[in-house]
This record gives sequence, C-alpha cells and structure tokens, in this order.
Amino acid sequence: MNETINVLISEEEVNKKIQSLGEQISKDYAGKELHLICVLKGGVFATCELAKHISVPLSIDFMSVSSYGDGFVSSGRVKIIKDLDDSIEGKDVLIVEDIIDSGNTLKYLVDLLNTRKPNSVKICTLLDKPDRRTTDVAVDYVGFQIPDKFVVGYGLDYMQKYRNLPYIGVIE
Ligand code: 5GP
Ligand code: MG
Ligand code: MG
Repeated sequence: MNETINVLISEEEVNKKIQSLGEQISKDYAGKELHLICVLKGGVFATCELAKHISVPLSIDFMSVSSYGDGFVSSGRVKIIKDLDDSIEGKDVLIVEDIIDSGNTLKYLVDLLNTRKPNSVKICTLLDKPDRRTTDVAVDYVGFQIPDKFVVGYGLDYMQKYRNLPYIGVIE
C-alpha cells in the first residue's frame, strides 16, 4: 500500500533550522566539549546534520529505545534496544531526538542518563508536538513546534518506511 504524503516542512527549511540550532549550540557550549547522544533510529538524520554545524569539539554515541512499536500509537513503555558504548561520566551531554510527543521517551532517557553522573544533560529535538505532552520534560533546543499530526521523513518512519525523505511530511 502506498500512502499519500504532503510536505509540512521543506528540506530547505529543515536544513536552515538545524544549521541555526548548531550555531546556537556552538555558542552555548563555547570552551567546552560536547557529547552528542543520537536516539536511534529517528534521530540519526538530525544528529548528522546538526553535528556538521557544531564548532566545539564533539563526540557522538548512539542509543536505541523503543516506545512506539511500528504504528501510529505510543505503547507508553520505553525499552532500551541498544545502550551507549561509552561512559558519560563528567561529560556535557546533548540528547538529539527526532520528535517529542508524550514526553515519555525523553523523560525516561534523561532520568536514566542522570544516574550515570554526567556533568550536564540537555535535549535537542527537531520536532515538538506540545499538544500531546503528558510528561513534563524541559527541552532546551527545538527545531519546530508542529500540530498533532503523524509526520514522517528526516528520520521519522511509518512502519520503518519514509525515514529517508529529505523533508517532513504528513501522511494523509
Ligand atoms: P514520546 O515518548 O515523546 O511519546 O514519543 C517519542 C517517539 O515517538 C519519537 O521518538 C518517535 O519515534 C515516535 N513519534 C512520536 N510522534 C511521531 C510522529 O508524528 N511520527 C513518527 N514517525 N513518530 C512519532
Ligand atoms: Mg525518536
Ligand atoms: Mg517509529
């Protein structure tokens, strides 16, 4: 089956926004080193694009968590599929996510990472659906606030497809 996808945020807009987030992050972390944590799989495109625009010394690690299953609806439970390779003790950590929806995933991640004695933990998300929040999480860097629609592209999937779209689209 093929779904119809309408463009919500164009490739140019997404890339411009990520560039400006990278520049802001570079200023905020001036004089420090940054440890990016990419939340797989959705965060991978945003992490790569963001990293190109960060000018402070940078390392990257990957974590894979699952809260959604494959469809449209969150299961509410968060499960670690792949943990980090490296210790984050003493590091300035920036989590990079594709989207914050209920907030469950990021709340879980921040609480978990804080038990590992980092120097700091902040969050960067490409997309934010504030209408759907059920868990309070402080997000430090947001690309776009979007309405309560199921989006795909730029890392976001529907049944594992469409992650490779270079824009953010809505499935109709
Ligand atoms: P939360 O735990 O904040 O409810 O959900 C976060 C995760 O749910 C995201 O990292 C993403 O994987 C998935 N998600 C939430 N909203 C959407 C959406 O509109 N489209 C897609 N493809 N995934 C979503
Ligand atoms: Mg995600
Ligand atoms: Mg998904």
